[in-house]
Amino acid sequence: MKSALIAGITGQDGSYLAEFLLDKGYKVYGMRRRTSTPNYENVQHIKDQIEWISGDLTDLASLIEAVRISDPDEVYNLAAQSYVAASWPQPILTGNITALSVTNMLEAVRIVKPTARFYQASSSEMFGKVMEIPQKETTPFYPRSPYGVAKVYGHWITVNYRESFDMFACSGILFNHESPRRGLEFVTRKVTDGVARIKLGLQNELRLGNLDAQRDWGFAGDYVKAMWLMLQQNEPDDYVISTEETHSVRELLEVAFSYVGLNYTDYVVIDPKFVRPAEVDLLIGDCSKAKKKLGWKQEVSFVQLIRMMVDEDLKRVQAEARY
Ligand code: GDP
Repeated sequence: MKSALIAGITGQDGSYLAEFLLDKGYKVYGMRRRTSTPNYENVQHIKDQIEWISGDLTDLASLIEAVRISDPDEVYNLAAQSYVAASWPQPILTGNITALSVTNMLEAVRIVKPTARFYQASSSEMFGKVMEIPQKETTPFYPRSPYGVAKVYGHWITVNYRESFDMFACSGILFNHESPRRGLEFVTRKVTDGVARIKLGLQNELRLGNLDAQRDWGFAGDYVKAMWLMLQQNEPDDYVISTEETHSVRELLEVAFSYVGLNYTDYVVIDPKFVRPAEVDLLIGDCSKAKKKLGWKQEVSFVQLIRMMVDEDLKRVQAEARY
């Protein structure tokens, strides 16, 4: 039986990856950070099938212990301060967690089990002010937020450990990926939750920032398969994972509101509070390398994804309102 250690298991991607690996018969170890108000919402349904280990990305001793206990074949580093907008008010925390802690994870693996295969969650935010359209593995980075800058560090330290210590370390440059489990602060989920509340008469406006931003949005459930595939290859490498389509926030609004028979222009209010100090205007990924080498392809389209999220939010908001 193979074993995997997941950091960031209670997040969106961690929960889908844990389900996927359990399905494949893996023993799954989940690292959890002590918090005063634990949040297991995303993993509630599989909580008993996971071996839990206490640990914190900023505490190397706890990571060494986590690798020792789990003796993993594969390590997935999905933990981070992952919200771009929060990286301006907390730039140093973002640097400590999202950048430097990748070295902590790599060190723990190098010291305890250097043969374990390592996945680093890199991000299309590294492309920022894009140097090329579409963006691929060789496109130069130009991050536009403390978060993006931190992810560039995480990417290069992963590449460096591969080259310095011959570790099987891969960096997955994943474009935005969403699901009903996405945090409510991200624009897709903020919109689908808002649509559900407006439709059910619980809210009458939705306050947003820049509606012209364009993103390449895929389904998180499809993207975790790519993470796993990267670690099953003969050689470690870096891959872009994307849908190869881009849509504006405005198009997202159109799809989500029209699905429930509403017109977004009647409800959306522009609030400067949600406009960022520096913006990533356009992201669109070229994932031909992943398609060719990993045999990966997306299964859920943009419209299917947004409708799935609206459906789930309608169900959840309705249940909460009843309660
Ligand atoms: P990101 O690509 O990781 O920053 O994902 P987000 O979902 O947080 O943001 C995607 C895009 O939506 C960015 O260009 C934001 O500026 C834009 N956007 C517009 N209004 C909002 C808003 O109210 N909240 C968020 N999170 N993003 C918004």
